[in-house]
Amino acid sequence: MQKYLFIDRDGTLIESPASGGQIDSFDKLHFYPNVITWLSRIASELEYILVMVTNQNGLGTPMFTQEMFLPTQNFMLNVFKTEGIIFKEIIIDNSFPEDNSPLRKPRTGRMLAYINNDAIDMKHSFVIGDRITDMQFAKNLGCKGIFLNSENLRGQKELTDTIEELKTNWTALASTSWKDVYEFLKVQ
Ligand SMILES: [Mg+2]
Repeated sequence: MQKYLFIDRDGTLIESPASGGQIDSFDKLHFYPNVITWLSRIASELEYILVMVTNQNGLGTPMFTQEMFLPTQNFMLNVFKTEGIIFKEIIIDNSFPEDNSPLRKPRTGRMLAYINNDAIDMKHSFVIGDRITDMQFAKNLGCKGIFLNSENLRGQKELTDTIEELKTNWTALASTSWKDVYEFLKVQ
């Protein structure tokens, strides 16, 4: 059975803008510290397939057009690619939190092909993300979460479980360090 890593983008692979808005220009694009080094080692040494899963509020609307999104997105993907980090699929939801879309993370409407695939070892797969909602997403998928910033409790309205439940039962590791993520995954 195949193990997967379902990896969030903003706040996890690249830093979220301090302003809280979208990454729509190169001055807002900053890689998460050491992510390239350690994710490259995860990709080359360990047996996981990588999938990016990201909410991009309003992508495709005038406030956040594809033309604003794609240059930094494609640059980021190319940098990862040159270091052997390839995402098998990039899953983007463009709804807003208040839409309560069943397709929006932490809900799993865009993930049915993974949930319903018996060849996937979901129990030994992980969501890696910087928000408590990513831990909710892990629970909803039936895998475990790696909480890459144990303080980020934004998006609580989208939780269906308590923070305590998600941290205690669904968070396999909480750390701000990609090196820790690598070392944890290496011994799974
Ligand atoms: Mg995030």
